[in-house]
Amino acid sequence: MGRRASCAAAVLTALALVAPATSPAASSATSPAASPAAWAALADAGRARPGPGAAGVGDRYFPRAGNGGYDVAHYTLDLTYRPGSDRLAGVATVDAEARRDLTRFNLDLSGLRVLSVLVDGRPATWSRRRAELRVRPASVLRRGEFFRTVVTYAGVPRTLRDGSGFLHTRDGSLVMGEPKVAATWFPVNDHPSDKASYTFLIRAPRSRSVVANGELVDTRTIDGWTTWRWEAAEPMAPYLATANVGRWRFSERTHDGIEILDAVDARLFRPFARPRTGDRLAFVPGEDDVYRRLTRSLTVPDDGARVSFFVDRDTEEAFDFFTVEAHTVGADDWTTLPDLKGHTRRFPGGACPRSLEIHPFLEHYLSSQGGEELCRPRGSTGRWHAASGRSRGHERWVVDLSRFAGSRVELSLTTVTDESVTDVGVHVDDIRVSTGEGTTSFEADGDPWDGWRATGPPPGSPAAGTAWSLLSAADIPSRGSLVQRSLDREGEVIDFLESWFGRYPFSQAGGIVDRRRTGFALETQTRPVYDARFFDDPVSGASIVVHELAHQWVGDSATVKRWRHIWLNEGFATYAEWLWSDRTGSASPQEIFDDLYREIGRRNDFWELRIGDPGSRRLFDFAVYYRGAMTLQALRATVGHQDFRTILRRWTQSQSGGLVTTGQFVRLAERVSGRSLHRFFRQWLFTGEKPPRPSGMPAAPARPSAGEVPGDKPAARLTPHQVR
Ligand SMILES: [Zn+2]
Repeated sequence: MGRRASCAAAVLTALALVAPATSPAASSATSPAASPAAWAALADAGRARPGPGAAGVGDRYFPRAGNGGYDVAHYTLDLTYRPGSDRLAGVATVDAEARRDLTRFNLDLSGLRVLSVLVDGRPATWSRRRAELRVRPASVLRRGEFFRTVVTYAGVPRTLRDGSGFLHTRDGSLVMGEPKVAATWFPVNDHPSDKASYTFLIRAPRSRSVVANGELVDTRTIDGWTTWRWEAAEPMAPYLATANVGRWRFSERTHDGIEILDAVDARLFRPFARPRTGDRLAFVPGEDDVYRRLTRSLTVPDDGARVSFFVDRDTEEAFDFFTVEAHTVGADDWTTLPDLKGHTRRFPGGACPRSLEIHPFLEHYLSSQGGEELCRPRGSTGRWHAASGRSRGHERWVVDLSRFAGSRVELSLTTVTDESVTDVGVHVDDIRVSTGEGTTSFEADGDPWDGWRATGPPPGSPAAGTAWSLLSAADIPSRGSLVQRSLDREGEVIDFLESWFGRYPFSQAGGIVDRRRTGFALETQTRPVYDARFFDDPVSGASIVVHELAHQWVGDSATVKRWRHIWLNEGFATYAEWLWSDRTGSASPQEIFDDLYREIGRRNDFWELRIGDPGSRRLFDFAVYYRGAMTLQALRATVGHQDFRTILRRWTQSQSGGLVTTGQFVRLAERVSGRSLHRFFRQWLFTGEKPPRPSGMPAAPARPSAGEVPGDKPAARLTPHQVR
């Protein structure tokens, strides 16, 4: 599972906010009611004579997850989904091998109504209790023999209380959740230790399409309903199964023998804005650290003048601004002008006084009160009037130039942004000046700019960034185009990850992005599901793709045998993000380690969690991700770079397709390095204390090296979207 907060700063802020952290994903977990020994005893009871299969596989975090007595080889899910009523109905066929002589066995199924159960073609008796479907076949199932269970069922799948699982979207459905989601939509042996192949036969109205794991084999339409056949031939843990009904725009390509297929909600491709009139408008994207002006000089008659225009804006609420600057040509009487329609406010912004360091020119309108106090909306020459956040489509602004009556004024439509979190940006169209000078709709009439110019930042502001430009309707970006921009890098990301983990483990790859805001991403096998807003920023967009594609090796191909080994998924996928950061010229894993190690004090709750056995409620705690990745960097310093690379590659290659435990990883690391690492791993995984800095690690610099002081961000910017 991925989360947005990948920079140390956001994580550290989050640590302060959510201690002690609880995992929303695990909040609905049942607490261990029976001991693992009890379940194991049940599983083994009467091995010599036929008996019942256990109601759980013996995972003490989730005692009723999965079931004992059999091993599933293949699921065929032949299901019809009606978007209007959210109703799912159909037949699940479960082909399994008996692991003992079975008089009865369980499947996991939560909610939904069971209509019939057949075992090997004969009606079976069945009963239900909570999330267990107990099946008694007509005759005993013999150990080592395959048997086929056919369950006919229907109902509206319930979304989990934390908002994950089977989601009902505006045009269909979306399945993403961990750890227990599969049983909410099909009868299943719902534990990662029982991997199987899948056939999805999903029927939906012809106006919709369906995307699942694996390969799209064919589609058939009868009477207005289309059946989509997807085959996931490579063994898969149940929580990684996904099948989604919607209006998808597919994008296909082949990369190095891997078939890549992305499915992005077609509605995400609506452009962020439209020209208010004609075919063109002026646009500046929402980038970090920029000060961008659209400027023109105007003569203001003695009786004054007014300027109106339409703006469609989406900037980070309270941190990034759109404003109108003005000064007399040749004079230092700069000020910002209020919108007579009331869209501007005098709020100085949550980043001020820090923003005065990034953009010293703002001191013309804003002044620091010292320390961390909010700025005053008055500066050395003028006042602060600006808008932040998002407009609902085109907004009409009017500014009054009468204070410049009888002179020539330079007017700028300006965006000023801070150092993190970007939104779409600002679109301007149909500028109208009461004198007629500079009135424009930016149309391609031989002089589209009509005297307006894109001008650079004022002295002291960062020079990088994109200037105002003119776009025609066809070139205006959409959230879908931003999503696809990052997904188009999947091949490049796979190549990079292969350089560390070896050959990509599956024949298929891709991504699924719905318009629904979920706030997280999940490594559903071959084709992860992402929240679209991860991709507004290309750096975060690439990073989340790295995380979820890394899970294809660590999590999906090499799968945890018990949930307590979760750091083998999340620590490794987070570490892959650090490796990617290094490759892109940003902070190295050692620098990220140093920042975290320095900033997270000995007493911080972060160190309390024994990530090698975090407990069912803290499976997805920040520490599992970040202490997990730090453990790998500490290991790298301890065994040396070459041995570390060998360990990672052997781990992913030798465990490919299998089930893994922390003990196996420790033994592999010891074998490769020829060292005893028992004490090392105990300190990093199994103590509630901050481990000592590894002796092989170079001394940390005193100052943060990632370019930002971790933890310096106001808490307000840690939105729920990021925490999740
Ligand atoms: Zn993850």
